[in-house]
Amino acid sequence: MADRDGLIWLDGEMVPWREAKTHVLTHTLHYGLGCFEGVRAYSTEKGAAIFRMKEHTDRLFRSAHILNMTMPFSKDELNAAQCAAVRENNLDEAYLRPMVFLGSEGMGLRADNLKVHVMVAAWSWPSYMSPEAKELGIKVRTSSYTRHHVNITMCKAKANGNYINSMLALNEAIASGCEEALLLDNEGYVAEGSGENIFIMRDGILHTPELTSCLEGITRQTILDFARELNIPVKERRITRDEVYVADEAFFTGTAAEVLPIRELDGRVIGAGKRGPLTEKLQGMYFDAVKGKSAAHSHWLTAVNG
Ligand code: PMP
Repeated sequence: MADRDGLIWLDGEMVPWREAKTHVLTHTLHYGLGCFEGVRAYSTEKGAAIFRMKEHTDRLFRSAHILNMTMPFSKDELNAAQCAAVRENNLDEAYLRPMVFLGSEGMGLRADNLKVHVMVAAWSWPSYMSPEAKELGIKVRTSSYTRHHVNITMCKAKANGNYINSMLALNEAIASGCEEALLLDNEGYVAEGSGENIFIMRDGILHTPELTSCLEGITRQTILDFARELNIPVKERRITRDEVYVADEAFFTGTAAEVLPIRELDGRVIGAGKRGPLTEKLQGMYFDAVKGKSAAHSHWLTAVNG
């Protein structure tokens, strides 16, 4: 990733990709206190456009606020940086990674002289999963790792350190022949995937866990918006893992994963064992919206060329 051409926005300037470096004593590298976003730009008729950029930037600022990090840039500056990162790397479609991290001015948990740095990188990352997975669905296992408890870490922040839990769960799932993990909260209820929110469909009702210990997903919100438009009843409530086993359909949502059907959980086939009709409908609406093919949702797109 580091050895390639291109430009990365770092602390207010575009720097050559290979020179966008930080010291080994970078505080966030040691203790994980930092926050980031995962954002996508899609190819549209108006050129590359970033999907729901404002919402991502708002969440980045909320994360920084929760972690008590003072943002050295405004939201407008961050939005302009994201557009520039796509535009100046000549990308048609892109994954964007804004990150806020503490510098190397001091070490130790008590360091109080740390500078807050901000970077935005953008690169081409077409599909998080195999293209077939979008149609056939993926195999998931319930993780042996519990999702964060709300008073152990801050679940509303997309904090760097929170992802140790995600990586342990994902690596365990992959090692056992699955493609993703489903994490339960500390009381045993369904929380989310390693980097996705979850929905199940049962008897015409869409269910998704409350946001207690999961991230306020922007794709999750997009699906809730679609459900409202389609008059599909939605229940945000506690869900058990066996409710997922007996669901008619289940899918994950996330900026990277997009709308991803789940065909199996813990060896139990869900519904027909492939993408269900509602998942297909919502997935289609999602792809239309992100690609600028849905006039009703065009306000969610920001063209990087203005
Ligand atoms: N949960 C976790 C833990 C995540 O990392 C992500 C990805 N940001 C999501 C849910 C989905 O969020 P979004 O739809 O905003 O990408």
